[in-house]
Amino acid sequence: MPHEIAPRSGTAFTLDLGQRLTVIDPRGQQVADLLAFNRADVREALSAGRTFDYASKIFLTRGDLLYSNRSNGMLAIVEDSVGRHDFLLTPCSKDTFRILYGDKDPHHGCFGNLAAALAPFGVEEDMIPAAFNCFMNVQVDGMSGALRVEPPMSKAGDRITFEARMDLVIGLTACSAPQSNNGSFKPIAWQVD
Ligand SMILES: [Zn+2]
Repeated sequence: MPHEIAPRSGTAFTLDLGQRLTVIDPRGQQVADLLAFNRADVREALSAGRTFDYASKIFLTRGDLLYSNRSNGMLAIVEDSVGRHDFLLTPCSKDTFRILYGDKDPHHGCFGNLAAALAPFGVEEDMIPAAFNCFMNVQVDGMSGALRVEPPMSKAGDRITFEARMDLVIGLTACSAPQSNNGSFKPIAWQVD
């Protein structure tokens, strides 16, 4: 049975070398922010920049490998029923909601959820990088580089599966940003095989 992450919350857990993590969008149009850290040294973390360098593209799907800041493969994407995810943007945070949405009393966002869930593993706030945002649909204008966040293309039951290339600590959320999730907050499901 998959585990469920309640709307606007998050969790952290370990994933062993060779294990597969499947992230499921149970209702459709819901983003899940994913972080990975080397369990033996959590200063090694997912790196969007390294991954874009080696993939020579910014949209990643089945067959692509997510790299760390030390250029080691961390997670290979082995299945993907959606084909559109984001690896450009940081986890939504109090500041995201203050700066982008003008909220006076902002929600702590994925960043707050990830920081709380990852603290027991020794991950501090300043060690949290840009997340691999499962199902997040960011459209990029190729000439200007302008970004536009659109509703996810995921439908109920869609999923993406990663295979661990080292022993990892994973952080995972049901994203808290209205714009990312077409204006509603839904759960995320996950399972390890
Ligand atoms: Zn978020």
